[in-house]
Amino acid sequence: MIGIDFERADFGSSDDLRITPTGPVRGLSQLVLRTDVSGMPLEWIDYREAARLYTQEQVAYTCGSLLFTLFGGINALTGRRTTLEINSIVATVGHTGNPGSTRHDYVPPLNNQTLFRRDAHICMYCGQRFGTRDLSRDHVRPFGQGGIDVWNNVVTACRRCNNQKASRTPEQAKMQLVAVPFTPTYAEYIFLKGRRVLADQMEYLLAHFPRTSPLHDRIQRWLS
Ligand SMILES: [Zn+2]
Repeated sequence: MIGIDFERADFGSSDDLRITPTGPVRGLSQLVLRTDVSGMPLEWIDYREAARLYTQEQVAYTCGSLLFTLFGGINALTGRRTTLEINSIVATVGHTGNPGSTRHDYVPPLNNQTLFRRDAHICMYCGQRFGTRDLSRDHVRPFGQGGIDVWNNVVTACRRCNNQKASRTPEQAKMQLVAVPFTPTYAEYIFLKGRRVLADQMEYLLAHFPRTSPLHDRIQRWLS
């Protein structure tokens, strides 16, 4: 298993999206995947938030691999410097503001960044891959014909295809969709919100995707 660099993908890089376990050392900007105590993915947190959870004893157990070793002060009793080891995946106790892990009808907020990633940065009309700045949100059924702004009615489209389609349905414009739009589950949404998703984090999140998720296939093609 390898990880994926979404920041590069957003930028339009078509290669070098892979993050290998033996890749270059990542800085403190690498995010940690937080789950609830049952292992459901909740959110991405930075090392400071992770350190806070560790020191407040809210970490029930850890998965993944060691990401950071943080050094604290000298312990007055032992004379040793305290260290805090932070893993790539931490399961935490207590409540969270995220409703997605418990609600099956949860619909994640729609924004272009996660929409484009859902579609693997591929224009759903011409099938070509672009960077974020060359992509747009197309409403399959246009507003003028009763279409609404929801995951199931929006696809990633390059600017040229979006202009060509204009305010028509694909049938009216004689343009065919490459794939059917879908609403991401909570785990899929957390994945799509990642920056640099490490191999172990990716493997963990993939295990929480529906078996029928189109993302399984898209990730393979993305990284191939
Ligand atoms: Zn296109």
